[in-house]
Amino acid sequence: MKRVGVIGDPVKHSRSPVIFAHWFERYHVDAEYCLIPIEPSGLEAFFADFAPWTGVNVTLPHKEAAARFVTAEGAGERLGVVNTIWRDGDTLRGTSSDGMGFVASLNAAAPDWRGHDGPCVIIGAGGASIAVADALAAEGRRVIVANRTPARAEAIAARTGAETHPLGDIAEVLAEAALLVNATSMGMNGQPPLPLDLAPLPAHAVVADIVYNPLRTPLLEAAEARGLKTVDGLGMLLHQATMGFEKWFGHRPAVDAELRAKVVRTL
Ligand code: NAP
Repeated sequence: MKRVGVIGDPVKHSRSPVIFAHWFERYHVDAEYCLIPIEPSGLEAFFADFAPWTGVNVTLPHKEAAARFVTAEGAGERLGVVNTIWRDGDTLRGTSSDGMGFVASLNAAAPDWRGHDGPCVIIGAGGASIAVADALAAEGRRVIVANRTPARAEAIAARTGAETHPLGDIAEVLAEAALLVNATSMGMNGQPPLPLDLAPLPAHAVVADIVYNPLRTPLLEAAEARGLKTVDGLGMLLHQATMGFEKWFGHRPAVDAELRAKVVRTL
């Protein structure tokens, strides 16, 4: 039996075991997905004895530190973070699948977003934001990042080629936007909603939230009330997991309604 899993501190909240159990059953894969709690001080010892593992996912707070133990490629190399690690002969390779997961989710839920060439406006400038900005820039899109703390948006711009814009004047860029993304933690259960007026957005704009708990955030409800197409954060979570499965078991698994329903039940 192959063993894969997720390293993090903590890991017990992870939905990955549910996601992978679904695919193992669907594709008749003889494998186990383990929660692997590791403190930062234990990371070196973990990578020194990787023999039991076919590959691992990496979650907070290890995404940056783990990149030092592998040969990073793609978004992982560009951003210096990894969330998916696999074997390639004697080499451990890693990348970050969050941005790919976001774009795949967008393509699945709102494929028409590509038909409009206005900028993609991202609110927020944390770890998830940089992955989304990098992936959208890699798609050839103009990306604008706005954040409460402007220096963090500037750091993303320097790394991804995105532009920045003051959050207080965001209405002027929203007026042209093809896509608006909430990449802050606002709107999560227990957090205040993202205070943003959606009135300036064009009628064809797509509004995406990366928060998935709740699934329908106040931002998405406001966008729906305006008649705009919306994309929730669960698709990103499910699609980013496909990369690990593909690297470890050889083919890309489907993100279908049954999988979505199983994970929704855990929220
Ligand atoms: P992070 O690195 O901590 O960044 C948080 C961001 O939210 C920062 O831009 C921060 O602004 C902003 N923010 C927080 N509270 C705010 C407030 N009161 N007013 C204005 N801005 C505020 O977090 P992250 O790892 O990027 O994650 C962000 C969210 O994405 C979380 O809810 C996480 O669960 C979700 N997420 C979802 C997926 C998925 O697969 N769907 C993947 C990763 C993350 P400052 O810079 O000014 O502090």
